[in-house]
Amino acid sequence: MECRICSSKNLDLVVNLGRQPWCNNFLKKSQLGKEKFYPLKLMYCNNCSLAQLSYTVKKEIMFSDHTYLSGITKTLSNHFKKICNNINKQFNCDKGKKSILDLGSNDGTFLKHFKKIGWEILGIESSKRISIIANKNGIKTINKFFNYELASSLKKKFDFINASGVFFHLEELHSFTRGVKYLLANDGVFIVQFLYMKSIVNNLAFDQIYHEHLLYYNLSTLQKLLDMYDLEIFDCYLTSVHGGQMITYISHLGTKTKTKRFFSYLKKEKNSKCNSKSFYLDFAKNLVKLKEKNIKFLKDCRKNDRTVFGMGAPVKGNTLLNYFNINKNLIQKLLEKNQLRKNLYAPGSHIPIVMENEEKNIPDVYYVLAWNFKKEILKNNKKLINSGVKFFFPINPKNNQ
Ligand SMILES: [Zn+2]
Repeated sequence: MECRICSSKNLDLVVNLGRQPWCNNFLKKSQLGKEKFYPLKLMYCNNCSLAQLSYTVKKEIMFSDHTYLSGITKTLSNHFKKICNNINKQFNCDKGKKSILDLGSNDGTFLKHFKKIGWEILGIESSKRISIIANKNGIKTINKFFNYELASSLKKKFDFINASGVFFHLEELHSFTRGVKYLLANDGVFIVQFLYMKSIVNNLAFDQIYHEHLLYYNLSTLQKLLDMYDLEIFDCYLTSVHGGQMITYISHLGTKTKTKRFFSYLKKEKNSKCNSKSFYLDFAKNLVKLKEKNIKFLKDCRKNDRTVFGMGAPVKGNTLLNYFNINKNLIQKLLEKNQLRKNLYAPGSHIPIVMENEEKNIPDVYYVLAWNFKKEILKNNKKLINSGVKFFFPINPKNNQ
């Protein structure tokens, strides 16, 4: 294979999560056992240091009908609201009307905050079902994949362009980045929100590795891509969403002053050696230990006749369930809020999904697959916890810095 940024062929396998089904392919009963499995391997580029998957599941398979809804959790919606406020403040946007384009705009949860303050908004979303929901909610959304061709068909420049969580999905990485370069106003800001690999590895949040995420960035590796398009990061900050989400502000080369905090993150990155191959090899070793610990816990539960329900059926949960080889002998069902997953089964593990508000029984243990919403979950379940129900978090993020 060739590196997706620099085209080098000098790549090495660093983390092998086995063969896994496409993690967003929740199954109907009649489809059980018929799903396809693909290699889920993280490769390290010895030339540019980018971590990336070896195998690409076609984007038309993954993103034309996905079921991820960003509006469903309060934490995420609040996270987006905060980003909106930060942008408004930092760039003095009160003076005059601004425009923003959101790439991978999902159900419009991010854009709605900008609409509220009077900005001109436009979303691009590849999922037909989800773009219909967005348009119904009054968020103008084009149902297409973003690339240079689409960019050149839009007849205007934008003050802000946002890509949250899509910047690692990209099969058409270079065409996408060219499209952004083309549409960004001269003094515009391109906001990229991405899983920060340094944090992901430190937190062992390996379930963020799945076929939809082809690319795993740190600041230095993202900059290597941006270099090719005369774009540069001038500011950034880290949030705890998804086990470590970096918000970066990017501009055309030389148009903005780089901030102190950006240099400080860059320095920490250098000191941590998070762009070295050994960093990823250590990660792989730690995952083996994490797997042993989790399996031991679940097997002990089974031995002691303690019922275990999964809390949440997030897409990333499937990476975890399949890498740990968990099936319904260990976790009886997954409780989920997202109606689009009602009565379906998790791919690979085949654990049935039940709507959270329809489940009458309370298990002895909740195995929390949506561990990244720990605070929200602990807060909402105080009564249960006090009555002795255990909430087990398979992954426990440390401090993100
Ligand atoms: Zn490379």
